[in-house]
Amino acid sequence: MSEEKGKVFEIAILGRALWELHSLNNEGNVGNVVEPRSVKIIDPNTGKAVTTDGISGEMLKHIHAELMWLLDDKSHLCEACRTLHPERFNYVVSKNRNKFESPAYVIGEAVKTCDICDVHGFMVEKPTVSRKSTVEFGWALGIPEVYRDIHLHARHALGEKGKRQESEEGREGGTQMIYHRPTRTGRYAIVTVFQPWRIGLNEAKQDVYTYDGKRRKERYQLALKAYQLMFTRPEGAMTTTRLPHVVDFEGVIVYSTKPMPVPIISPLKDNYISEIEKIANALDSIQVVKFKGVADFVEKLRTLMSAEPYQMEFGGE
Ligand SMILES: [Zn+2]
Repeated sequence: MSEEKGKVFEIAILGRALWELHSLNNEGNVGNVVEPRSVKIIDPNTGKAVTTDGISGEMLKHIHAELMWLLDDKSHLCEACRTLHPERFNYVVSKNRNKFESPAYVIGEAVKTCDICDVHGFMVEKPTVSRKSTVEFGWALGIPEVYRDIHLHARHALGEKGKRQESEEGREGGTQMIYHRPTRTGRYAIVTVFQPWRIGLNEAKQDVYTYDGKRRKERYQLALKAYQLMFTRPEGAMTTTRLPHVVDFEGVIVYSTKPMPVPIISPLKDNYISEIEKIANALDSIQVVKFKGVADFVEKLRTLMSAEPYQMEFGGE
């Protein structure tokens, strides 16, 4: 693809990521066993219902937000996002309630001051108003088959190894504790959409961009950079001892250059790329860029950095 100088309305990243021996997302604990997250899906290639492994969209969105925070120079973050406070702009509003009376003012101030509130959205309790995220993540779904293992581990105190073998599993035997941790290996179907056209848009008024030009482009680039990094370095649960082996990522970057939602066909389907290509051929303004491997993905996404986030014209004035 040549260097893209045009405007980008929406971007979808659809692909298959191979992550080995990770434990990025778990259900929780049952006794001393950590349960991996399971979901039921219809395998589109066989038509059969299967149980597979899932990494929630919340987890993926969190990884993206954290990377944006790391990359941000912190001068364009609200008081809450500077410390990655989960309430985001609600925290700022609740501290200065008399200043924030109208919903339009809340959104206006949030998107003006904060890269993360603008891109990732937030909910404010009073006045009741929310900003919908400009990045959306589906579950990362294990393309059957995902291999799962539960591993047994024991924690020993120094010098006590071997002494307490008789203690029951999971019971704190004074100095030893036995516990179970899962790992998974598999290819995951990734579905995510980014809506550059909404960056800076005050949705309480719907037809007003709070700011424009350079700042919109900087935020657009920051969000793309976080996307580049999240597939080179997925961070989630249990990475202190189950840092994922990142092996592969292949798929398509689909983007529209005019107001047109990008098609998202799940990479669970074996033929998803050819189907997307056919759709793109049938519709105007949809571009499809294939990538093979993590490095190729990073390079191909980079070509979109020089594009401008689309700005809707509302007429009037
Ligand atoms: Zn914020």
